[in-house]
Amino acid sequence: MDYKKLRPESLMMSYGYDPNLSEGAIKCPIFQTSTFVFHNAQEGKNFFEVAYGLREKNQNEELGLIYSRLNNPDLEILENRLCLWDGAEDAAVFESGMSAISTAMMEIMQPGDLLLYSRPVYGGTDHFINHFLKKLNITAIGFRANETKEEIMARVEATGKADKLAMIHIETPANPTNALIDIEMCAEIKKHYSANDKEVVLSVDNTYMGPLWQHPIKHGADLVLYSATKYIGGHSDVIAGACLGSKELMGRIKGLRTFLGNMAGPWTGWLLMRSLETLKVRMEQQAANATKVAEFLHNHPKVEKVYYLGFIDQEGSEADKAIYKRQYSSSGAMIGFDVKGGEKEAFAFLDNLKLIKLAVSLGGTESLAEHPQTMTHADVCKEDKDVMSITEKLVRLSIGVEYHGDLIADIDQALKAF
Ligand SMILES: *Cc1c(COP(=O)(O)O)cnc(C)c1O
Repeated sequence: MDYKKLRPESLMMSYGYDPNLSEGAIKCPIFQTSTFVFHNAQEGKNFFEVAYGLREKNQNEELGLIYSRLNNPDLEILENRLCLWDGAEDAAVFESGMSAISTAMMEIMQPGDLLLYSRPVYGGTDHFINHFLKKLNITAIGFRANETKEEIMARVEATGKADKLAMIHIETPANPTNALIDIEMCAEIKKHYSANDKEVVLSVDNTYMGPLWQHPIKHGADLVLYSATKYIGGHSDVIAGACLGSKELMGRIKGLRTFLGNMAGPWTGWLLMRSLETLKVRMEQQAANATKVAEFLHNHPKVEKVYYLGFIDQEGSEADKAIYKRQYSSSGAMIGFDVKGGEKEAFAFLDNLKLIKLAVSLGGTESLAEHPQTMTHADVCKEDKDVMSITEKLVRLSIGVEYHGDLIADIDQALKAF
């Protein structure tokens, strides 16, 4: 049997961990330590030469453990396991999704560069792009889910800085109405603006559908970014992030992580390894529940419209159907819906939920509900809100692992409240 060919879900309990190195413990211990003892001075010298790139690694030479800002077993084993889901060469985990995204952007771009990004992106990402990166003289130009390649390239040209395009950053499906972006189309745009001496980097925030249901690297992405706080952590008890990609790009990003010092700690690494063992069963249950909930909402007299990828066959455009078929293996566990009425009715629904909790975030074992217009997307400009159907009647649900009948009963009674 070729161990490396097993499916990720079969490898999440053991991959990359040798019990013999830890007194036979079946689980990887929490290496709650800041520094590691060298066997001798020569070994310390060797490790530093490799860590700082002072010489090439010898064949079969592994980077030894030095200091937990550079490396720690809980992070390294976790990173190796994360790579399996996305088919990535290397990964880096961070203390938050925002630190993964901001570190990748700062490493890839420099002052004067142009960034192309899909709109709207996660609020924190949007703020980082339009405030912090702006201060670094990085220009950003946005495009929307339904724009064609030609329209997007016209936007790039209109900046007058097309030759400075350094990075394309997208989020698909877009939050909260599940609009789709074609990763392969973005890879073509990347190719068009790349030259021998300049490779435009395409990054995909895969928080919504990854790492199970969408694998951006297969479609031409260079970097995959995660808020591991969401499905990867999956229990609403830890903030963490991850970035995956080629050895070369990740070498650069890990380098900056070392000097910013925003790597995850060992306890976070351990929690995420524990979470990864159940990732697939959790996500599959969440998606199955979401189908039942979406069907219930679809037929409810107090619901005007449901935004759910499972309905794309009946309601989607031909272009969206094609992207969906190519990019996704599930309709996911996120649902948006418009109540009949406005903010008053949406708030009455939210305030009357009993089992489902009123909170932002997503991807956890418990179902959550929120009001994007006044909460997660409060900062999005009016024009984007209109285009994205982020109105006062929109409610967003993140579906958990509860019994679907109980979720539906809760939603049913809360819809009776107005
Ligand atoms: C939550 C989230 C982030 C930010 O992640 P943190 O772990 O909160 O820093 C980024 N992108 C998306 C799509 C998210 O949902």
